[in-house]
Amino acid sequence: MTASFSNLSLAEPLARAVAEMGYESMTPIQAQAIPVVLTGKDVMGAAQTGTGKTAAFSLPLLQRLLKHENTSTSPARHPVRALVLLPTRELADQVAQQIKLYAKYTQMRSAVVFGGMDMKPQTLELKRGVEILVATPGRLLDHIEAKNAVLNQVEYVVLDEADRMLDIGFLPDLQRILSFLPKQRTTLLFSATFSPEIKRLAGSYLQDPITIEVARPNQTASTVEQRFYAAQDDDKRRVVKAVLNERGIKQAFIFVNSKLGCGRLARSLEREGLKTAALHGDKTQDERLKALEAFKQGEVDLLVCTDVAARGLDIKDVPAVFNFDVPFNAEDYVHRIGRTGRAGASGLAVTLVSPSDTRLVSDIEKLIKTKLEVENYPLEDDRSRGNANDGRRDDRREDRRDDRREERRPERGFDRGSDRGFDRQRDNEESRDRRSSFRPAQASRDPFFEKPYEAPTAEQASAASWEASAKTVASRPGLSANIKPKRKVAALFKAGE
Ligand code: AMP
Repeated sequence: MTASFSNLSLAEPLARAVAEMGYESMTPIQAQAIPVVLTGKDVMGAAQTGTGKTAAFSLPLLQRLLKHENTSTSPARHPVRALVLLPTRELADQVAQQIKLYAKYTQMRSAVVFGGMDMKPQTLELKRGVEILVATPGRLLDHIEAKNAVLNQVEYVVLDEADRMLDIGFLPDLQRILSFLPKQRTTLLFSATFSPEIKRLAGSYLQDPITIEVARPNQTASTVEQRFYAAQDDDKRRVVKAVLNERGIKQAFIFVNSKLGCGRLARSLEREGLKTAALHGDKTQDERLKALEAFKQGEVDLLVCTDVAARGLDIKDVPAVFNFDVPFNAEDYVHRIGRTGRAGASGLAVTLVSPSDTRLVSDIEKLIKTKLEVENYPLEDDRSRGNANDGRRDDRREDRRDDRREERRPERGFDRGSDRGFDRQRDNEESRDRRSSFRPAQASRDPFFEKPYEAPTAEQASAASWEASAKTVASRPGLSANIKPKRKVAALFKAGE
C-alpha cells in the first residue's frame, strides 16, 4: 500500500504546496521519517539524495514551526528556529529551493548561505530575520563570527549528507556550530552510510534517535545495466565515444577521480566536438551552477565530474554514467551509478578498467555482492588506431599546455579565505589528486569496506560517544554533554490540526 500525504493531516498551507508539487504518494523515507519527526524525536536516517529526504525532514519541521508563524516586520520576531547544514553549495542551494516551495503558502521565511558568494546580500537577509536557515558550515561560521546569525533559538538542526561533511573535514566546524545551539533541541542526521564516525557523531549529538533506513548503500538498482570494459588509459575516451554512438545516448555523467583529470578530460572531449562541462571543487560557484544549468537545459551533453562535486546533485534521468576512473572507494561506485536508472527508468553504467584497477573492481564486487565480468570493448582496427595514437600524442601536448594555463589562472573573484567549506572540499579533491598519481597501491584502505554493509544494531547506534573520555560531565548518565533531555510533551501533534 502506498502512503498518502493526506494521512498526515498536514496544515493546509503545507498540504496545498505538496499537492502543487504533484506528489501523489510518500516516498519510503517520507513515510517512515515524517511521523517520527512530527513527534519531535531525534532521527538518524540512512537515505541518499533522490529519495525525497528533503521533504521528509522539512515538511514535519515546517509543520511544527507553524506555531511561530507571524507577519511582523520586526527581525526579532523571526529568529532562526531551524538550521539545515549541508556539505556543498549545490546541495544547500537545492535544499533551500525545495524548502521555499514547501513553505510558499506559510509566513515562514527561509534563506541559504554558502561560500563563494558575496556575504553582503546574505547578511541583509539574515538581519531581516529568517526562521529556516540552510547553510554550509564554513560560511555559517563566518556569519556567526560576524554576528549576522544568532542561533540561540534553534529548535531543529538537520545534519544532511553527514558522511560527506565528515569526508570533507567539516567535523571541527560542525562541533563549533553545534556548540552555539541550545542543547534542548531536535537533531536529525541523514547520511548515506552509518560508518563508525557517523555513529560517533550521532552518539555525541543525538538523543535516543530513531533509526530509519530506506536504501542500503550496497544496493544498486536492478534497472541499471552495469558494464565493465577493459581499457588502457589512452583508449578510454574512444570507448566512451563508441558506447555513446552505439547506444545512441545523448547525455551522460562521466566520473573521474581527480580535479586535474576532470579538467583535462572535459577539454579533450570538447576539442573532439562534444558539448562538455567540468564540475569539480576548483570551479567557482558561478561556474558550477552554470554547468549544471546548461546540462539540465540540454546545452551540455557530457558532465565530467569528481565525486565530491557531484554528490547529491538533483539531476534526474541521466541515461548513462561512465566511470572513466574506477572509484577509489567502492561506495562511490554505488553513488555514481545511482545517478542513472532512477525511478524505474533503465540506465547504463559503464566502468572503464585499466590493468592497475583489478583491486578496486574486486572491492566493488565485495560491496555489491555480485561477480563482475570485465569485458573487452571492440575498438576499430589497428590502422585507425595508428592515426588515433598520433592524435593522442597531440592531445597529451595540448593537455600539458592547458594544465600550465590552469595553474597560471588568477585567483577568482571571491574571497576564498572565507570559504572554508570550499577550501576543505578542494583540499579533499587535491588529496585525491595526489593519491591518483600513486595508483594502484591503495594506502587508504578502510577495514569498514572489507565487509559488506550491515545496518547498525540498536546497540551500535547508541555506542559511546568520542567525548565519553572527555572531562565534561554528561547532563545525565548515558547522555552526551551536548544533549539535554527533552521535555515530555503529551500531545505534540493532533490529527486534523
Ligand atoms: P531529495 O531526495 O529530497 O533531493 O528529492 C529528490 C527529488 O524528488 C526532488 O526533485 C523532489 O521534488 C522529488 N520528490 C520528493 N518527494 C516526492 C514525492 N513524494 N513524490 C514525487 N517526487 C518527490
